[in-house]
Amino acid sequence: MNDTQRPTWCEIDLSAIEHNYLAIDAHVGSSQVMPIVKADAYGHGHRQVAQRLQELNAPCLGVAYVEEGIALRKADITLPIHVLGGAVERQIPLFLEHDLTFTAPSVDKLHQIDEAAQSAKTEAKVHLKIDTGMERIGVHHYNADNLLQAALNCRSIKVEGIFSHFASADAPDLQFARLQLERFLEVLDFYPRHDLPTPVRHIANSSAILALPEAHLDLVRPGLLIYGVSQLTEAVTNINIKAALSWRSEVVYFKVVEAGNPVSYGGTWAPTEATRVVTLPVGYADGYRRALSNRAQVIINNQKHNVVGRVCMDQTMIDIGNSSAYNGDQATLIGSSADHRITVEDLAEWADTIPYEILTAITARVPRRWQP
Ligand SMILES: *Cc1c(COP(=O)(O)O)cnc(C)c1O
Repeated sequence: MNDTQRPTWCEIDLSAIEHNYLAIDAHVGSSQVMPIVKADAYGHGHRQVAQRLQELNAPCLGVAYVEEGIALRKADITLPIHVLGGAVERQIPLFLEHDLTFTAPSVDKLHQIDEAAQSAKTEAKVHLKIDTGMERIGVHHYNADNLLQAALNCRSIKVEGIFSHFASADAPDLQFARLQLERFLEVLDFYPRHDLPTPVRHIANSSAILALPEAHLDLVRPGLLIYGVSQLTEAVTNINIKAALSWRSEVVYFKVVEAGNPVSYGGTWAPTEATRVVTLPVGYADGYRRALSNRAQVIINNQKHNVVGRVCMDQTMIDIGNSSAYNGDQATLIGSSADHRITVEDLAEWADTIPYEILTAITARVPRRWQP
């Protein structure tokens, strides 16, 4: 598909990603930074983002799935790549073949990895996963000694790291996050107790990087923050980050809608007096979510205007009131334009969701344009 002419696109500012990576790196001092590039780098393009981070000598990258790691290897990414999620047994050889770092969330999985590595005559790089309160993958903190002990007895496993994940580091009340950190540190006591060196310890995602400095440990795992987005208040986001993604479209139609005539499916909105309505070629199949109907705003010709009526699969209508707009005029759905700005956080609020879902919902139908 030649989509370079499509009048709806995302602009990805790779220099903003570079800026954010360096800002986080400075913020966490001696801790290392593992940028998370799962889910097509939160919609920003995994190849382009990983390439830039590789140029910056990031120590490693994090993805969720083995397929994502393989895609990065095929894009000439040679950095260590840690697969954070769970994998099934038949995928284990793929990790070894593509030199990807495993997550071992249980003794069983650890043994499967060890056996596969032995038969492949290689050593598997592994991070042990401890569940300190997320109740997702990982061995419970109160049973973790078994996993740590088992790893010592594996012949073809190299334990490079040990990690956990916060359930509520974005909450105003950090009590549960602090409890999770405490549980994690207790598990880590195993190593000094046995006179063994401690592997690389990590637990902090973006919110914890900002809100819980004592959780930085040896390595931090920023996703959202790398892309210049924060879920936390400005007071807590005490680090200068730049939003990397802008989403633009163009006016493709202009009409006057008379008073009382409802707009779009279901007729959920009608003007009280005649008004000018333009159509943008973007809809929920692009990831411009239907929940934004009658709630979101866009910037056209340096003014903010309301989305009116239901967002359709491929088209969205905007009430521009008495303003003028012509076919081809640019509309900003996310990003800055002259005096105004619409953020990913704004869209998340309007759609009653989180910024993560707004970014990762932007579908492959929307072409990305990368700026160095
Ligand atoms: C996605 C993910 C992260 C990144 O989270 P952000 O909140 O985007 O910083 C970190 N760690 C793990 C295990 C993840 O799955």
